[in-house]
Amino acid sequence: MSLNPASAALLDGLRERLGPNGARTPEDEPGLFREDRDRYRGHGAFVARPASTAEVAEVVRRCAEARTPLIPVSGGTGLVGGHVTMAEPAPVLLSLQRMNRIRAVDAADNALIAEAGVILKDVQDAAAGVDRLFPLSLASEGSCRIGGNLSSNAGGVNTLRYGNARDLCLGVEAVLPDGTVFNGLKRLRKDNMGYDLRHLLIGAEGTLGVITAAALKLFPRPAETATAWLAVPSPQAAVDLLHFLRPRVGDVISAFELIDVVGFDFLAETGMPKPAPLDPMPKWSVLVECGGRAGVGEALESALEAAFEAGLATDGAVAQSAQQRDALWTIRETIPLANRAVGALSNHDISVPVARLPEFIDKATAALNRLDPTLRINCFGHVGDGNLHYNVYPPRGRDKAALGNRRDEVKRLVHDLVHETEGSVGAEHGVGRAKVDDLERYGDAGLLAAMRALKAALDPAGIMNPGAVLR
Ligand SMILES: Cc1cc2nc3c(=O)[nH]c(=O)nc-3n(C[C@H](O)[C@H](O)[C@H](O)COP(=O)(O)OP(=O)(O)OC[C@H]3O[C@@H](n4cnc5c(N)ncnc54)[C@H](O)[C@@H]3O)c2cc1C
Repeated sequence: MSLNPASAALLDGLRERLGPNGARTPEDEPGLFREDRDRYRGHGAFVARPASTAEVAEVVRRCAEARTPLIPVSGGTGLVGGHVTMAEPAPVLLSLQRMNRIRAVDAADNALIAEAGVILKDVQDAAAGVDRLFPLSLASEGSCRIGGNLSSNAGGVNTLRYGNARDLCLGVEAVLPDGTVFNGLKRLRKDNMGYDLRHLLIGAEGTLGVITAAALKLFPRPAETATAWLAVPSPQAAVDLLHFLRPRVGDVISAFELIDVVGFDFLAETGMPKPAPLDPMPKWSVLVECGGRAGVGEALESALEAAFEAGLATDGAVAQSAQQRDALWTIRETIPLANRAVGALSNHDISVPVARLPEFIDKATAALNRLDPTLRINCFGHVGDGNLHYNVYPPRGRDKAALGNRRDEVKRLVHDLVHETEGSVGAEHGVGRAKVDDLERYGDAGLLAAMRALKAALDPAGIMNPGAVLR
């Protein structure tokens, strides 16, 4: 690909400064110019690959001087087109993948300092190495990286107990849009000295600067983990079951996932393994996990007995070994892959107040049935924190392309209902480029004005990930 003279000069200068590994052509890194579901394709002048915070600062400073757009990318697993664009001029992609050192693991402080390019699974393993838990857990944990997790404020299966990525972060180091290094890698639990820049950068999706490292919170590792797959009569019963179990087992429920049998059908349809935890498989299941002191399994089993008596669950299987636990989670984590293989007409990563979740599911399902009763809905997700993946698929055997003109109608219908139910249409994946219109439509006017003012103040030249989050 031929570069325009400004990009070519920038590339030459950076190659000199960062060395031969410090910059690559888009042809060398094709995976970085697409999004995981292949919904978005992007282009770029080149990929900068700094290996230190000083080198990141140099890349940002030079891009700012050349007024060249810059997009940070960590693992590239984001699902909202946050790191891909076809807009002109072609941006520089700043890959954090060479910034992959764990700088410190401090069990006494329950803190770990990781550079932005460290893979989430490696952080979990480093924490386990000092007998601690880093609880952020997503199906993409083998490839997403800490910089991306914080920039998208990732959620995942343990949000119910431990919070989102934001709640797990004590401090960040970042490069601001003019190349200034912000050294906020404090491990403090209390620090009220002025504005908290950390919380602006978390969830900013690369629009306010580049996160280069983070101080992360660690927790005690549970002595015992108990996992069960339960049949529940309805989403309302699932919510009631959560409230029933909480006081009985204590504050130890880390995951509470709702699973629609449609996800299980998709495993079969796409030829993926589908070991059935229950026979027959119910329309609605819950995958619940508790972790804590020895005896937590007994506490869960006795609470479940009472739940069966109360009619909140009708069948169940409790994992008897770590292997059985992993098998249950593998089913849950494989469903998104089957979804992708089937091909959604429209995906919706939404959240509503937990108490209104059953109402939302009932209303959305009835409205979609009225629109087109042949559409298939796979509704699953992190019910314990009100976050659902409410995804809509074409009928079996029909390609989504044939229904493409229905996509906007379906999305609007679902998102309007989310809004009416006091929810969010971007629960854990963020805004990226996919939901810029939604943020404008449903976002609070005061919030949008403050966001635009902040963006203009911190990034007056507009070089940081232009077109993402804000137009
Ligand atoms: C199979 C699968 C399952 C998933 N499950 C979940 C889930 O349960 N919960 C969930 O929340 N998400 C989930 N995701 C989405 C995705 O994995 C998360 O959003 C993840 O946090 C993104 O991390 P990443 O390193 O891949 O970020 P990237 O995709 O590289 O980037 C995400 C955004 O952050 C910006 N960015 C990246 N790095 C930096 C940085 N260092 N500084 C500033 N900005 C930066 C990018 O420009 C982009 O806008 C899933 C994705 C897949 C493919």
